[in-house]
Amino acid sequence: MNEFKYNYTKYAKMNRDEILTEMQKHLNDERFQHCLRVEQTAIELAKENDVDPEIAGLAGLVHDYAKQRPNEDFIKVIVDHHLDPDLLNYGKAIWHGYVGYLLIQAELGINDARILNAVKYHTIGAPDMDKYAQITYMADFIEPARDFEGVQEARDITHENLWQGVIYQNENTMKFLIGKNKAIYPAAIVAYNAIVAGLK
Ligand code: FE
Ligand code: FE
Repeated sequence: MNEFKYNYTKYAKMNRDEILTEMQKHLNDERFQHCLRVEQTAIELAKENDVDPEIAGLAGLVHDYAKQRPNEDFIKVIVDHHLDPDLLNYGKAIWHGYVGYLLIQAELGINDARILNAVKYHTIGAPDMDKYAQITYMADFIEPARDFEGVQEARDITHENLWQGVIYQNENTMKFLIGKNKAIYPAAIVAYNAIVAGLK
């Protein structure tokens, strides 16, 4: 895969190198490398779908920025921003996107709503995902180091039709969670109803 680099100063208060430095303060190397692969996969998907690769690349790069923050950091954001108190019943799997985008806004100076929403929805999806949210969601799922049963099928579907990829991932994720008797954050059910069940 060709490697593309944008400096991102159009959409962030720091350039790419400064963003990488901030990311490395909060992420171990494994997670950091995953973010770099998601960035490249997102750029590739943006080009295939005729949307701005710089926006997609930045969303992909920072999507897991908050993934390894202490719980207290998220709880503080939930309380300070008066977010849905039900969020406190969940954990980092939900928080790092649905709450973490606010840490990205505050700490990396990214204010573009397309990027912030893409990060917000990258784990649970949403009823009204734009192309950037769809790309971030799928790049995270199919980046080159992903290795699960069906990943090649997921890649093929996604490169053929981005939205069909979103449906594929969402259906499989929900089946997986239900199969494990996991609690599902209600906004994820709303997203499933729109994405997989086609509820308007
Ligand atoms: Fe994530
Ligand atoms: Fe990720």
